[in-house]
Amino acid sequence: MTTSAELYERACRHIPGGVNSPVRAFKGMSQPPVFIERAEGAYLFDVEGKRYIDYVGSWGPMITGHADPDVLGAVRERLDSGLSFGTPTAIETTMADLICEIIPSIDMVRMVNSGTEATMSAIRLARGYTGRDKIVKFEGNYHGHSDSLLVKAGSGALTHGEPSSPGVPASLAEHTITLSYNDIEAVHECFEAMGEQIACIIVEPVAGNMNCIPPQPGFLEALREVCDSHGSVLIFDEVMTGFRVALGGAQAHYGVIPDLTCLGKIVGGGMPVGAFGGKRDIMEQISPLGPVYQAGTLSGNPLAMAAGITLLEKVCQPGFHEALSTRVETLCDGLETRAHEAGIALMTQRAGGMFGLFFTAQQRVDNFGQTMACDAQAFRDFFSHMLESGVYLAPSAFEAGFMSSAHTHDHIQTTLMASERAFAAMRQQ
Ligand code: PMP
Repeated sequence: MTTSAELYERACRHIPGGVNSPVRAFKGMSQPPVFIERAEGAYLFDVEGKRYIDYVGSWGPMITGHADPDVLGAVRERLDSGLSFGTPTAIETTMADLICEIIPSIDMVRMVNSGTEATMSAIRLARGYTGRDKIVKFEGNYHGHSDSLLVKAGSGALTHGEPSSPGVPASLAEHTITLSYNDIEAVHECFEAMGEQIACIIVEPVAGNMNCIPPQPGFLEALREVCDSHGSVLIFDEVMTGFRVALGGAQAHYGVIPDLTCLGKIVGGGMPVGAFGGKRDIMEQISPLGPVYQAGTLSGNPLAMAAGITLLEKVCQPGFHEALSTRVETLCDGLETRAHEAGIALMTQRAGGMFGLFFTAQQRVDNFGQTMACDAQAFRDFFSHMLESGVYLAPSAFEAGFMSSAHTHDHIQTTLMASERAFAAMRQQ
């Protein structure tokens, strides 16, 4: 049997850090990354045959569980027709119609191949539309790895200690203004000082890349207001929250409507897909209708569309998101209770089908500074104990957790029992 440790050693020879995306590397953890062979429902199975209850869900897409038979069936059905044509296909229109129906703020949508492409293109569009260069983002929000957005970023950039990456020209980064999440005052001050130069605000409407931080009441509304009064474009990066926090995303949940929305993860059903869309007059600036260029050889790929459409149709089922939130509540309440019984300071935050675990005595965590102040070593210890017990959490204190509809009451109870052992072991350390 080949072990994960052996595969990792081999991977490191020809792949930087042995991984194709940094957060997979288990940075700071006591064990090497687990190599997964297959997955089904709520479970991952590693190359050594060990089974894990998975709360990562491929970082979001697997909202109905892994290897969903309907999604796989849809892909299989299209497979024999060919992988890619580089021409328009009917299925792309089906996807566009479905997205516009589920998210009413989207009049027109363009498909791309990743969340990074979606946000990068939305930023370019906002700049092209307004004729302005500056953009506003929030510290610890992650919008993919394009140059303008890799400034004080979250997710792997944060886990690996490089929130502002070398290689991003200072002359470009200077156009990215970074403010503190949930700080309405800072947003007002910034717009008073230079509002007429700001093309857009891009925000994770629930921050999921510095753990899980929901917006404080009034925060998203304030962003909408300053954008309206200064002619700037409001972009919600719903790559993570779209179809997860609620069917219509965070914008439906919080009732604040952006001008542009970025999508990813669930919209591709596990295939490499992203999308950006929004108001018609802005989207009409995109080539070939308008002058803002954006393109993609494989964009709207038929297999990816088949997977994504099938998954979207499944999450449209009545009661889907209510049931998902209930599962999150059960898990998070159960973890908090068991931690407190063991004398461990744990606080959880939730938004629909996503959640965050904070090892802290604070009642709330609202921004990057507060998330950084939590006990990262306690998280690492918890992660290791849970992994040992067959529960796979995101290998970083800065990532949100994801629930799926394949997680049953039994999976959650098994997870909670594992947490009891973990908390007991942590107390003895
Ligand atoms: N935006 C957000 C909010 C994300 O969470 C991510 C990825 N986790 C991205 C953008 C980038 O997406 P991708 O990794 O598909 O490029």
